[in-house]
Amino acid sequence: MYKLYKIIAAFFISFTVVLPTLSEPPREPEHEPERTRIRIQLKWFHQYQFAGYYIAQEKGFFREQGLNVELIEGGPDIIPPEKVAYGNVEFGVGNSSLLVDYGNGMPIVAIAAFFQHSPFIILARQDENLKTIRDLEGRSLMISDHSHEIVAFLKLAGVDISKISRTPHTGNIHDISEESRHRVDASTAFLSNEYYDISRTKIPFIAFQPRDIGFDIYGDTLFTSKDYAESHPDTVRAVKEALIRGWRYALNNMDEAIEITHAKYAPGKSKDKLAYEAKIIHQLFVDNVVDIGYMSQLRWLNINDAFAKSELVSEDLDIGQFLFESEQKMPDWIYRLLIWLAIIVMLVSVVAQRFYQLSKAKDREIEKRTQLEEKLRQLVETDALTGLYNRHKLDEMMCREIDRAERYMHNFSIILMDVDHFKNVNDTLGHLIGDRLLREISDLLTKQLRKADIVARWGGEEFMIVCPETDLVKAETVAEKLRACIASHNFHGTDKQTASFGVTRYHQGDNADTITSRADKALYQAKRDGRDRVCVAP
Ligand code: GH3
Ligand code: MG
Ligand code: MG
Repeated sequence: MYKLYKIIAAFFISFTVVLPTLSEPPREPEHEPERTRIRIQLKWFHQYQFAGYYIAQEKGFFREQGLNVELIEGGPDIIPPEKVAYGNVEFGVGNSSLLVDYGNGMPIVAIAAFFQHSPFIILARQDENLKTIRDLEGRSLMISDHSHEIVAFLKLAGVDISKISRTPHTGNIHDISEESRHRVDASTAFLSNEYYDISRTKIPFIAFQPRDIGFDIYGDTLFTSKDYAESHPDTVRAVKEALIRGWRYALNNMDEAIEITHAKYAPGKSKDKLAYEAKIIHQLFVDNVVDIGYMSQLRWLNINDAFAKSELVSEDLDIGQFLFESEQKMPDWIYRLLIWLAIIVMLVSVVAQRFYQLSKAKDREIEKRTQLEEKLRQLVETDALTGLYNRHKLDEMMCREIDRAERYMHNFSIILMDVDHFKNVNDTLGHLIGDRLLREISDLLTKQLRKADIVARWGGEEFMIVCPETDLVKAETVAEKLRACIASHNFHGTDKQTASFGVTRYHQGDNADTITSRADKALYQAKRDGRDRVCVAP
């Protein structure tokens, strides 16, 4: 029975697990994302001069950048700037002559200078009458169009180029030999290439190098069209990156680079010749001093100066548009981040400023209101003439004092004061002097009394003083002090002035009226007794 279970289980498993995997269709190879197709027009026949391009292609550096690259061989009849400008290819390999083409209105943009010096030279068949570069006058020179740097070189070296007969370049350096069918006297050439060929012949030759007269210019330079640089900046950067990698690899692995060049691109060239070329080309990178592909705006300006001296470009040519991202470009996301940060900072500062303004306005409003309230309070509580508390405020404070006295068994006394014969002052000196006298008296009272005492203007020339925590004896002393003080004071514009005082203290059960009325009676008594005196309520 157990065995039967096992057989059924095995059968079931084979159906659910094994069979489906057998019937599963073979997996499709992972779909490779579409790569950007570009064409690069090389400047000359395949040779080590383009090893960095071959390495980038063969080692997959282009592919890793998402590029599908076609490298197109050049030759004497192929003019890369024209092919790029007309859109036949996206990229080209040129040299410093690119600047002259740009100056003549070709919409091209230099991306990276791989050769920091130019290997472009003139090779001439040596004879008795050809010893210096000026001896080329009256001779024939094989030169292709767009070899502006050689024209500039000749002009800068003081050669009258109108006296040189220029013939198209055949690409064959042996044409400078006596025996050649297309015999010419001299030819433009590459130090890394034709120089090798000619030195392996019996042809006597002489080489003229631009660097010999200090005309030191960039050699092979990657470029594209203005349109392409503007519409595909990321692709341009990708191509540049892949080529920098390619050249770095070639510089570090020369033998392998020679092998790849020979095997895949230039099988017709001997490895010996390629090795010679590689040695010369590697020196042009000066990679112990500058980064691979580095271009200096200043150097391009100097090159422009030299071209301007040879009247190939105008002196004030604006080379800003000629250089692709001449300054180290920050990644786009940093730009975007900075823009967002700037916007956020701007918004925050606008909002903050608005808040600040609002809170300022609110502060001002609050201050204004407090001032207004203070003014109102003063108006309600104080007497306009003397600045003392008025009757209204006094009533309030008296009630509070009575309340305190009742609740906590505190003692307090009041003094009622009336200026003697005040009517006389008004009648004899006028109301203004009367007013001033009242102010002077209130000042005197304020100065003589303690802070705790409450002094108020009771009526016309009557004042009430509430003395908290003060018994009758003390209150009488206070009143006496005030009386003496007024009687001895010299008031402005008046004779001696006196006042009478009625004093009483709080008794249990008193209200404002009862206590005031007692003080009033005492005051009357003082008046009756002859004024200028203090009378204490019985
Ligand atoms: P006595 O109290 O000693 O009996 O004589 P008196 O002259 O002071 O008498 P009374 O209280 O009758 O007169 C008070 C005068 O005070 C009457 C009024 O003209 C004057 N007076 C009241 N208020 C003011 C004021 O604000 N300014 C001025 N200049 N005079 C005032
Ligand atoms: Mg009076
Ligand atoms: Mg009076």
